[in-house]
Amino acid sequence: MPRSHRIELLSIVIPVYNEQDNLPALFERCRAVVQQLGLPAEIILVDDGSRDDSAELIRAAAADPLFVGVILNRNYGQHAAVMAGFSRARGDLIVTLDADLQNPPEEIPKLIRAAEEGYEVVGTVRQMRQDSLFRRLASRVVNGFVRRATGVQMTDYGCMLRAYRRHIVDTMLRCDERSTFIPMLANSFARHTTEIPVRHEERAAGDSKYSVLKLINLQFDLLTAMTTAPLRLLSFIGGAIAAAGTLFALLLLTLRIIHGAAWGVNGVFPLFAILFIFVGAQFMSFGLLGEYIGRIYTDVRARPRFIIEEIIGQGVEPGARIEPQTGDAAKLHAP
Ligand code: UDP
Ligand code: MG
Repeated sequence: MPRSHRIELLSIVIPVYNEQDNLPALFERCRAVVQQLGLPAEIILVDDGSRDDSAELIRAAAADPLFVGVILNRNYGQHAAVMAGFSRARGDLIVTLDADLQNPPEEIPKLIRAAEEGYEVVGTVRQMRQDSLFRRLASRVVNGFVRRATGVQMTDYGCMLRAYRRHIVDTMLRCDERSTFIPMLANSFARHTTEIPVRHEERAAGDSKYSVLKLINLQFDLLTAMTTAPLRLLSFIGGAIAAAGTLFALLLLTLRIIHGAAWGVNGVFPLFAILFIFVGAQFMSFGLLGEYIGRIYTDVRARPRFIIEEIIGQGVEPGARIEPQTGDAAKLHAP
């Protein structure tokens, strides 16, 4: 194995938003996985402005040097929270994971094995996805569309159980745009990517933190993160609609001449219907334009993507080793 593929320190970044019921199990399972790996590791828990006891649980966990707590001052969204975690991660391989145990931490060793083979980004495909039918259908439609529009080939854009090499994360941190979709961003910087199948489980406790509105927002992030192709598509669609409209007008005029004025009056209502279709199409176009312009506006203002209120725990120094232990606290040993 080439030396550059060796992993000196593993960082696991977990965004947390109102997940108090999942955290104890999450901590335990992650700790067990890390101990079994025998790699130096740090687990970075980012509290994304939770209103329950999540922040307190993270503070308590950070007493253990394996865990680092990053407390954001309010809710910034999953991807901003992961970015905040990235900014504190020092490992040369960074794994992201959801806090709700839908991505089993036990799958992390698989990701690491793939990374050691030399892949810069290791994506995952959720097997037997445990989400509602609506969620899965929406995903499928969006996935297909995004794949075509962006040319970034990924089977499963939504799964956040992923591994990134240090240089990929550094590059992502240099991206200043406010709304990001991390898997997409990472793949656009990587040359060697792979996808591996992972298990997907039902949410252990609590409800999804994505409302329908937040979900729609995320889909726009995903789309606009990578491409301006929809903008170009607008002109094509606009042109096609205008051409069809002209032909239609000619047809109606001809029919009016052939069949006389009575037909023309009766044709008023279909005409209205047609008009509405065009107006609808226009509004959709304006909406999409607005989406990009809105993003330009936020990026021009360049407000901070997140504010870290507090960092708890220093984490493990690179090169230090965690001894596999059966007790509840892993001990640190300098090499
Ligand atoms: N999350 C977050 N901030 C948010 C929403 C979600 O940090 O504003 C975290 C959440 O705690 C979880 C992960 O992002 O760890 C994925 O969220 P969720 O499981 O609700 O999404 P779903 O699985 O329904 O896509
Ligand atoms: Mg989830």
